[in-house]
Amino acid sequence: MNQSPLEMYMFPCLSDNYGFLIHDIDNKLTATIDTPEVSAIEQALDFKGWNLTHIINTHHHYDHAGGNLELKNKTNCQIIGPEMDQERIPGIDKKIGHEEVFYFGIHKVICYHTPGHTTGHVVYYFQDQKIAFVGDTLFAMGCGRLFEGTPEQMWNSLNIISNWPEETQLYCAHEYTKNNAEFAITIDPVNKNLIDRIKEVEEKRINDIPTVPTNVAIEKLTNPFLRASESEIKQELNMIGHSDESVFAEIRRRKDSF
Ligand code: ZN
Ligand code: FE
Repeated sequence: MNQSPLEMYMFPCLSDNYGFLIHDIDNKLTATIDTPEVSAIEQALDFKGWNLTHIINTHHHYDHAGGNLELKNKTNCQIIGPEMDQERIPGIDKKIGHEEVFYFGIHKVICYHTPGHTTGHVVYYFQDQKIAFVGDTLFAMGCGRLFEGTPEQMWNSLNIISNWPEETQLYCAHEYTKNNAEFAITIDPVNKNLIDRIKEVEEKRINDIPTVPTNVAIEKLTNPFLRASESEIKQELNMIGHSDESVFAEIRRRKDSF
């Protein structure tokens, strides 16, 4: 297939957010995924020599859409965001809904509505690159707090992600991995894959290396929130016979007070 390359640049923002720029080289398009911190985004654009043309928002929280208007005023970029949350996404131009497709240059992007963290949260799947920006829906070995949605909604949202191809790279919006790992082992203490992954994560964080992106395969093996349907987890929690959703809800409840 004749594909113009898509370049990506990831950088830290605020205390534990990640910023992401994506750049379509042939068409000279540049998008920021969310707007956590204007100065950090501008610095990244300068560093790469790219001009901002798009903002692609996952949800309305301040550390994701707080820089929208300032960047739009400065660059006249187009803002793409969740239809369901249009009143809460500052400056939104293009509203997209569940399973709706749009093109960034010639790159096909599929939007999925993933309520749970917020009611309007969406994630973006770049089909040809097999990369996805999952905002605060999924984190490495974790998931977003349920500020607005129900456990059932979040369970369904996470299952959209776990049904993508195993090699899909998942770009989550926060570096929460070390804390998530410490929690995960309390839920899934004999999981060999998890034990191995925790060692890797500790090593990376000691050296200040990001643990993002993660991928679908490793999350299915080690993320306790994706593993709520597994019998080992149900047994560990004394919840054999309970629904997957209720096991997920229990894991989320424990994490909230961890
Ligand atoms: Zn959030
Ligand atoms: Fe966030």
